[in-house]
This record gives sequence, C-alpha cells and structure tokens, in this order.
Amino acid sequence: MTNNPNQPAAKPTALSGVFYDGSSSAGTPCELIVQPSGKIEIEHPAFDASQNRMFQDIDVPSRMGNTARMLPLNASQWFETSDNDTLDQLEKRFHKTSWYFNPYHWETKARYWLFSVVLILVMFFGGLFYGLPWISDIIAKQLSPSASEAMAGDVLVQLDRFLFANSTLDADRQAKMQQLFDDLLEKNGVATTDFSYTLHIRGGKKTVGANAFALPNGDIIFTDELIRLSDDDCEIQSIMLHEIGHVEHRHALRQTIQTAGAGLLMTWLFGDIEAASELLLALPAVLLNANYSRDFENEADDYALEKMLQHRIDPICFVTIMEKLVHSVRTVRREEPLAEDQEDTADEAPMDFFSSHPATPTRNQKFRRASATFQQHKSNP
Ligand SMILES: [Zn+2]
Repeated sequence: MTNNPNQPAAKPTALSGVFYDGSSSAGTPCELIVQPSGKIEIEHPAFDASQNRMFQDIDVPSRMGNTARMLPLNASQWFETSDNDTLDQLEKRFHKTSWYFNPYHWETKARYWLFSVVLILVMFFGGLFYGLPWISDIIAKQLSPSASEAMAGDVLVQLDRFLFANSTLDADRQAKMQQLFDDLLEKNGVATTDFSYTLHIRGGKKTVGANAFALPNGDIIFTDELIRLSDDDCEIQSIMLHEIGHVEHRHALRQTIQTAGAGLLMTWLFGDIEAASELLLALPAVLLNANYSRDFENEADDYALEKMLQHRIDPICFVTIMEKLVHSVRTVRREEPLAEDQEDTADEAPMDFFSSHPATPTRNQKFRRASATFQQHKSNP
C-alpha cells in the first residue's frame, strides 16, 4: 500500500492513529483508510461503514507543529493522528479550498496579523508613555503621605553610608542655609502641605559632587559642593523650590508605580521570558525613565518658577546656578571619569538633580523669559 496521495493512481491512503469509538475513553490503535473517492474506512466493529463518511466532509483542525490532531467522524467518534504530513496531503487533495490554497485567506491572515502587531504596539507604547504616567499620578495622589514616608524609609541612612560624607561647611553657612529653607517653607505655607520638610547638608564626595536631592518624605539634601557653587541666596532657594516641587508632585512615588507598571506591561506582552531577554526588558525601561524624568523635571521646574514669582525671587537665579552646575559637572567628568561601581551607585541616587537632565536651552529659556517680565515689573511697578 502506498502512502503517497499525490500519486494520481486510484489507490487508498492509510492514516495511522487511534480510533475512539464513543463508548470507551480508551482508544484503539488502528488505520484510517481514505479511498480515492474520499470514503473513509476503519477496521473496527464500532465503526459503521454504511454511513458513507467522506473525508471531504470532515472538519480537519489546523496543524499546530507536530501535535496530534483529532478528526471528528460523527457526533461521538473520533480519530486521532500524529501523521500530520499524510493528513496535510489528504487535505490538499480533498479540500480544494483549504486555507493554504486560498490566497484570500492568506491575505486576510496577513492583514489580521499586521493589525494585531500594530494594535499591540500602540497599546504597549500608549500604555507606557501615556497610560502609566496618568494612572500613577492618580494612584499617587490617592495614597496617604504616609506611603511617601514609608518609601523614604531609611534611604537617608543608606545614602549616608554609601554616598555622602559629613558636611565640612562652617556652622554659619549651615545656619544660613537653614534660614533660607525655613524662610521658603514659611512663604510656601506650612499648613498647605502634606509633608514635613527637613534640610540636610552633606559632603557630596566625588560620586555625587554638586547636587541636590529630594526624598519622598520631604527630606531635602544639599551637598557642600553645590552650596559652594552659589554666589547668591536666590540661587540656593531656586533649587530648594525645585526639590520641594519633586516632593509636592510625589515624583518618587509616581516613578515607583510607573516602573512596577512597566514591568507588568512587559510581562503581559512577552510572558515569562528567560534571562537571555533581559536586555529586551531593560531597553524600554531606559527609554521610559529618560522620558519620565524629563516630565518630572519640567513639573518641578514649573513649581519652582511659580513659587519664585510668588515670593518675588528673580527667576534668572535658577538659570545662573544651572549654568554653574553644568559647567562644574562637565569639568568633573572630564577630569575624573567615574569608576563602574560608582556609576552604579550614582544611578540609584533618588531624584538626582542633574545627572541626566542638563540645563537645556529650552529649560532655561522659560526662566529667562519670566525673569525679563519680572525685571520689567520691578522697574515699572
Ligand atoms: Zn529635579
């Protein structure tokens, strides 16, 4: 007996497999014979050949690799076969309109496929860049300030251990800083905020350098190096306001929710993927963080600008300290490239004022323009 159904000779084709007779759950290994006319025969007492079952009438399931396929013979009887190649040949011969011979089907399949890919991409990136920030904002605002308090935890203790040194500023300068900070808090209105703000002054060492941070609970950290860069109180106050802006807008909390959400989104899209795909996972996270950070910086800038105008502080002070900072960061980078482990530590620093957000012209322009108006009002009150 030949198994080659391409052969035009009128010979029956045998399909090996298991017959389920409908009365017992155990199958019987046997052959299903397809006659040249398409008529099906199975040598089993339970198979009723008089029903004249035709292969053409059988609904053959689509092939899934090499898994066995179940062919429904009638309401209760089935034939299971792993002889997928022979089954495909039979399909080709008897089902003239089978899907792989039907260009329309291919076309629609390709269209569906493309549509699905586009839809997934839109949902993914839309979710990543618009959905997550939006929803994390809502969640962060619903959470009580104690969530921010809990998040800050002993972060400062850890930072002190790994990043910071004790401040070497003299007591007068430190007291002056505290006074500037208290002055701002009073003007901002202590009663209107959910957070208890505390100023901390630390030595930034080489890793942190001139910088400022905000922890989610309202701990604001200034480094000696940053304070030494400034020549005017208003410069320090502009950065204090920017950092307070990060806290008021709950950026650390939102960032955390967004990162967790991005993780969920990736799992939804790629399933449980192996360690080999970590790079694939890391890439959007990097893109994402760059994007989120820019948004957060803008929000903190806007907060600072609004408060500066409110407290009659010239917005140009923000620009001047920014420029000094960028200059100092460049000088440090050129002279002293960070060691790899230092870079790692620096990456973990919370709400880094400058590491990845240099004073872009657009960022400064906002303050320059506001300053021009501020000066005008000052000279023509
Ligand atoms: Zn910032």
